[in-house]
Amino acid sequence: MHLDDTLENYMRKTADFHGCFKKAPGIVIGCYMVEYALELLGDVEGTLNAVSETRVCLSDCIQVMTGCTLGNKHLKLADHIGRYACSIYDRDTRRGVRVYLDLSKIDPERCPELHAFHLRQRDPRVLSDMDFRKRSGEKVVAEFLRVKRDVLSWHPVVVSYRRKDPMDPSVPCTRCGEPFLKKSPEPGACPACSGDSYYAIPEGEGSGGS
Ligand SMILES: [Zn+2]
Repeated sequence: MHLDDTLENYMRKTADFHGCFKKAPGIVIGCYMVEYALELLGDVEGTLNAVSETRVCLSDCIQVMTGCTLGNKHLKLADHIGRYACSIYDRDTRRGVRVYLDLSKIDPERCPELHAFHLRQRDPRVLSDMDFRKRSGEKVVAEFLRVKRDVLSWHPVVVSYRRKDPMDPSVPCTRCGEPFLKKSPEPGACPACSGDSYYAIPEGEGSGGS
């Protein structure tokens, strides 16, 4: 797939989408990774799909640069893996390429901040001091821009995801009544009503429902 905009513009667009400053390290590195992956993949006959192995910046770079999004399901999130890597592939042939930020290629002498960034071993002040975080981020980016693809690696992949997920039936929950997506059409309680809820309803506060 050919990119129809410059990398510089994609970094700006991704930063706008992500809600951060343009030269955030994850955005810069991620945009270079996606550009590299698309170039390696070349033109595809079928539908372009992507997998991100992390939820951070990289997944937004993919969404902005390839049009594969979580919403259109052309982007799959495999963030249980947690590596700074993505795969881009032809959904029809399942063949594609996987690009990752390669620790073994990052020289800790030459690129100390990038090395620490990749291992999440930067000075803890990056979490508490925004100025410090910005300066550290600028160092990571400056180091990365000196090496770029020299610290990226790739290999071909055959992706095992099914071409299209089956449409699960939507079944009203036997407790809350809200329809939820269920593997089988038999009646049952939704996960939230079965103890796997991410929220509690505070007592004595008003609500918009009955
Ligand atoms: Zn329920």
